Amino acid sequence: MRVGIGYDVHAYGDGDHVTLGGVRIAHTRGVIAHSDGDVALHALCDALLGAMALGDIGEHFPDSDPRWKGADSRRFLRHCGALVQEQGWRFVNADLTILAQVPRVGPHRLLMRQNIADDLGVRIDCINVKATTTEELGALGRGEGLACQAIVLLAYGDNAHQNGHYGH
Ligand code: MG
Repeated sequence: MRVGIGYDVHAYGDGDHVTLGGVRIAHTRGVIAHSDGDVALHALCDALLGAMALGDIGEHFPDSDPRWKGADSRRFLRHCGALVQEQGWRFVNADLTILAQVPRVGPHRLLMRQNIADDLGVRIDCINVKATTTEELGALGRGEGLACQAIVLLAYGDNAHQNGHYGH
């Protein structure tokens, strides 16, 4: 088994929506980012890459690369999901905690879970998304940005032996 953890934060800037878990949520501000700034999917990608010991999202999708300007982060997630398969791992579950004072995230959690499950090719009951405010404490609490923590578990897949994971 392998566990991986991820964290991402983005500041709010000009705009009228945020993208979280692939869901467009109306807001009085946007997110400053090279891609679509989806902290939920960025944290999840980092957790997946972390579990596989394959570095981080910045190495795989550098923000200096114009290909990723304004990119839909679901492309990043699908890429990381494909790596799980290629590397011979089997996805077990993911658990995400979104930290945002604003906007309200709760009503969108089911759709986020569905998007993630679709992109990883897993059942929705393998994906959990939680949301919390930070009780108006700190920069996140002042509504200056939003963040997400993610953790994932991978198990040995059917082809784990040939990829050298057996018994590790
Ligand atoms: Mg990010």
